[in-house]
Amino acid sequence: VSALYVLATPIGNACDITLRALHVLAIADAVACEDTRNTNQLLQRYGLSKQLMATHEHNEREAAVKIVERLRQGERIALVSDAGTPAVSDPGARVVDAVRAAGLQVVPLPGASAAVAALSASGLDDQRFHFVGFLPSKARQRETALQELASMQAALVFYEAPHRIVDTVQAMLQVFGPQRQIVLARELTKLFESIHRCPLGDAPAWLEEDANRQRGEFVVLIQGAPPSDGDQADAERILRILLEELP
Ligand code: SAM
Repeated sequence: VSALYVLATPIGNACDITLRALHVLAIADAVACEDTRNTNQLLQRYGLSKQLMATHEHNEREAAVKIVERLRQGERIALVSDAGTPAVSDPGARVVDAVRAAGLQVVPLPGASAAVAALSASGLDDQRFHFVGFLPSKARQRETALQELASMQAALVFYEAPHRIVDTVQAMLQVFGPQRQIVLARELTKLFESIHRCPLGDAPAWLEEDANRQRGEFVVLIQGAPPSDGDQADAERILRILLEELP
């Protein structure tokens, strides 16, 4: 069927691609991708050779127009990013938006995403999570962004680059305090994968202890804020009202 297939690719381990994704890549007329070299490597690994359409953050709108045209001709187009799920801290959303606006079909092919992989192995038992992705790189804006998240009662999910990890963890400590749990999920699915969980107050020393702990790609998770006193008081008030109603 003619459609835009939003297709997740591995975040490290090349085996983390679904059978369905491989099937769709095999039958696709073209693959819209961020970096053509990167995607060519992925295709070559599976003995595939496809026409590639460069679709990155700088040309996404123009690329979307071309993709819509080709879908109108009845083609099947796969949309991938360099790693993981397109449109999650990656280009893709504008293309999907344009295709949907044109009334054409969009089919998601779920697979790897660093955020979900990290959450699943974190053991954090917050019932909710809030995906933040990358924080602003300037210190002032980063702090403001963190402050806005400080009272959220949901696990917080961040993406971070190795050269900023130490500063970011310090800033998190300043805003969230030492008690909350932090999970530093590094190089997921790769050779040097490590998932370290500790109180936020212990994290800077742990990172400093060994320079290798600061290398690679990171997902940082922060345990959500505890229920505030106000929430507790509300809950007790509602409970009292309900108890009065009981026979
Ligand atoms: N679309 C991707 C996804 O679904 O996860 C995310 C792309 S974003 C440009 C890249 C960031 O994701 C990295 O800087 C890092 O924070 C995180 N990331 C990607 N792969 C990772 C991995 N194998 N281990 C830890 N974090 C990873």
